[in-house]
Amino acid sequence: MTKSPSASPDFSVREFFQRFPDEDACLEHIMAVRFGGTRFDCPKCGTVESTFHKLQKRRTYVCASCGHHVNPTAGTILENTRTPLVSWFYAIYLFCTTRHGVSGKELQRQLGVTYKTAYRIGQQIRDLMSKAQGFDALLTGHIELDEAYVGGRRSDGKRGRGAPGKTIVMGLAEREGRMRAVVIPDVKKNTLRDVVLQNVEAGATVSTDELYSYNLLTFDGYSHGAVKHGRKEYVWYDYQRGENFHVNTVEGFWKLFKASVRSTHVQISGKHMQRYLDEFTFRASNRHRVNGMFDLLVGAL
Ligand SMILES: [Zn+2]
Repeated sequence: MTKSPSASPDFSVREFFQRFPDEDACLEHIMAVRFGGTRFDCPKCGTVESTFHKLQKRRTYVCASCGHHVNPTAGTILENTRTPLVSWFYAIYLFCTTRHGVSGKELQRQLGVTYKTAYRIGQQIRDLMSKAQGFDALLTGHIELDEAYVGGRRSDGKRGRGAPGKTIVMGLAEREGRMRAVVIPDVKKNTLRDVVLQNVEAGATVSTDELYSYNLLTFDGYSHGAVKHGRKEYVWYDYQRGENFHVNTVEGFWKLFKASVRSTHVQISGKHMQRYLDEFTFRASNRHRVNGMFDLLVGAL
């Protein structure tokens, strides 16, 4: 059985290669995550706690009692891949430990695969990150909301709001907790309100900028406070409610996201934007546990 990784708070490259030196180590880890190890009840012969042995040079384990074959990668994105599992694991590791994201070029260089393969691996890991987020649970407590305009470029080469090809995105962050971001079609009242209704628990406290007019959320039972960025107001402490209203967490997130897109990915079209948002919010939500992130992703396979 693979040793529980959560023991160490940090996860260095050296530790990574100690844990996953070869294909067998990766397979064993997938067995541990998916079946709890190499001893479990055989689905074919019904033997309780049967032992499964690894077949040499194959991604297959065999039941000691009846010879039933179990492929730990069956039904996962790794099932038909010709890329070594160690490369996949290392790519997942890079996605967990980076701050600015991993470009296709970077993966190509690190894994020694073609750009096409590297790009596909990257997109599949982003999909894993979406899957591992657990989007069903509503955000609770005090939630910050802030919109941003990302991607695209103006014809004059400058960046800015309202540029053609820009995608409007809304970020939501629990104070010191989970984070999510969604693509929105416009900033009309009903669109903004729907984002909150669909993602935030009723009765929660919500910080926004002035885009969210007074009453827009209050009528729905939220405790709402808006900072007026137009008037250079960035924090508003409401003595009556004892709440500090600001959207600094989400603003920081957008700053990092935009800088990363500029430096790492050059340009992301609206079609692919949600994938990249999920990648960055996954890291933001799990930033305190790199090891945990890695295991969440392997679990989501
Ligand atoms: Zn069996």
